[in-house]
Order: sequence, then C-alpha cells, then structure tokens
Amino acid sequence: MNRSPKKQGNYLLGLNQFEIHTAINSEFGDIPAYRSKQIYNWLYARRAQSYSEMTQLPAVLRNQLDRNFKVGSLKLAHQSVSEDGTIKFLFELFDGLQIESVLIPSEMRDAAGESRRKTLCLSTQVGCPLDCKFCATASMKLKRNLTAAEIILQYFEVERLTGEKITNVVYMGMGEPLLNYDNVIKSLRILTDPELEIIGAKRITVSTSGLPEEIKKFAHEKIGVKLALSLHATTDELRSKLMPINIAHPIKELLAAMDEYYKVTGIPITYEYILFEGLNDSDADARRLAKMARRNPSKVNVIPFHKIDFTNPKGIGAELHPTSNENFIRFNEVLKKEGVHVMVRSSSGEDIEAACGQLALSKLPHPIAIEV
Ligand code: SF4
Repeated sequence: MNRSPKKQGNYLLGLNQFEIHTAINSEFGDIPAYRSKQIYNWLYARRAQSYSEMTQLPAVLRNQLDRNFKVGSLKLAHQSVSEDGTIKFLFELFDGLQIESVLIPSEMRDAAGESRRKTLCLSTQVGCPLDCKFCATASMKLKRNLTAAEIILQYFEVERLTGEKITNVVYMGMGEPLLNYDNVIKSLRILTDPELEIIGAKRITVSTSGLPEEIKKFAHEKIGVKLALSLHATTDELRSKLMPINIAHPIKELLAAMDEYYKVTGIPITYEYILFEGLNDSDADARRLAKMARRNPSKVNVIPFHKIDFTNPKGIGAELHPTSNENFIRFNEVLKKEGVHVMVRSSSGEDIEAACGQLALSKLPHPIAIEV
C-alpha cells in the first residue's frame, strides 16, 4: 500500500538524475541531458535552496524550474542541545506532521578538542506500525512513510543548521526503514553517489527490527552500507514478547537472512542488544548471543535501557527496567570471553531525552523514540 502523502507538490529533490531528466522534459521538452546533470549536482552536491542559485543554467530554464518545481525544505519546529553536545531536531513536514533527527557527537576528540565523529540519526517513517514494547514511537502507530526527499533533507537541514560536517549516518530514528523500502533505497543511492561526494556508503548503517525477505533483497542492492539487526533477545519466547514482529519472523529466519546479507555483501553484521534487568541479561543470554554473533564477522552493540514515561506500561512493557552496572559489565565480559567484538553504547543526549530508545518530545502530541 502506498502510504506516501497524497499531495507532495512538484519536487525535483528526491529524484535521481534520470528521473530529473524525465520530469523536466515532460514539462519543458528537449532539455539536454547535461542540463539535468547540472541540476542534479546543484540540488545534492551544492545543496542549492533555490533555482536562482543555479547560475550555470540559462535564466530562462531557471525561471521555468522556479515556476514548475518546488525546491523543498523541512521546517525546524524545535531544537534541544544536550550537555554532551547531542542535538535533537524536531522537523515539521509539508503536511504538518513531525519527525525527529538527532546529531550525536562521539566522545573521541581530536587535538583541537573537536569530536571526531558526528553521527546523524535519521527517521524513515512518521511513527511506526511495529509494536516494540520498549519504544515510544510504537504508540504513534504509522502515520505515513517519508519520501526520499524528506529523508535526504534531514541530512541537509542538520548540516545547514549546525554548520557541522556529518561523518556517519544511521537509519535508526522513527520507523522501520525496510518497511519504507523504495524511498530508503532511493535516499541511500543519492546520499552515497560518489559523484555527489556527500557521504561514503561505509559510513552509513541501516537498522532493522528484522524483516527477512527485505533483508535478503537489500543484500542484492549493491549499495555497500552496513546493516544492523535490533535483536534484544536470544529466545523466540522473549523476543516475541518484546518485538511482536518476531512472531511472524522468528530468530532462526532472521539469522539466515543476516547470513545471506554477509554472504552477498561481505560487510560485517551489527547486532543491537538493549539490556533489560532480569529478562535478557544472564550469562546464558550472553553465550547464546555470542553463538549468534559468531555465525559471521560481526560486532554487538550493547545498549543501556533508558526507562521513559512513554514506555508502554502494560504487559511486558511494565517489566522493563535498566540492568544494574554490575550486570552490564558482567554481560559484556562474558561476550568478550566468547570472542565477540563488543561495542558499548554511551548514553548520548540522555538529559534531553535523545538517548537510545528514549527520544521523546513533550511538545509533540505523540511521543517519539528512536530505535537503536
Ligand atoms: S523499535 Fe523501531 S521497529 Fe520497533 S516500534 Fe520502534 S521504531 Fe518501530
């Protein structure tokens, strides 16, 4: 079902070079291909915000473009800055719906004291149709998919607003990226187009809650981005309670799909694992997780859980608590002893509710959280 907005206006942003050529020729006819290439470069490589900036184009064409196609932008509705430098952006879309993006600086600093990594977390849907019990986005349900332009614009707007060079991108904000498959692929192809020099594919990670057919299809797209699986449990019994999508697609099926992703792409897998006290933080869990991780070259991101007001208080949602520091350390030690490459996620932006699974804005009619 197409859940994209009914009336998006006539935008060129979000289109690839071929589509731009088709769109402008259907309006004006007989525009040579090199003009489409120039427009493509102005829109993405040079981040033009108006057609009048596209000075290589003849004035007549610029005026025609201006009359027929919007350039596209996102309106900043709110911005919060954490003590650790994490910045959370609330963007308003053309139809008034809102999404969030988060810019997370790494703790590693260069000689000048600047953060070495600036990771941008992008949203792919307004809300989410999946019902993960630790995630506030789930309570919004799905409003609609974002267009490719709206995904790309989060990158451009954050870059413009902060003046920062974004070094890494994670598709881990609101929504399940693989449920908005075509627009996510389109945005990835544009962001990673070497000709545009925006960002390298190796610096992008797409995170999924686990849709085996889409994962296998994604493996064959030849884009070269990393794939992260939000695992969060090592038994189907627990995972189905935490993430109901697991009932349709149990762990065995998911791991087979991840095997295929690695086999086809040669790109190591990332597993995301939030630790919940007494539910998934035992030594036996760590050993089962290690066995899964060892199937392919991989790393495991172990993430502290941040209890938030928006966490679904019913059923298993009421049982979700952060594991203790001792348990957190012990769990990671077991993983390391089992030969797993472990990354411990920090709590970036906790004070502004932008940390893992915690993102939520009181200014919104609906709570929002990022999936990590
Ligand atoms: S964790 Fe991700 S997939 Fe699950 S409900 Fe939240 S946004 Fe959707």
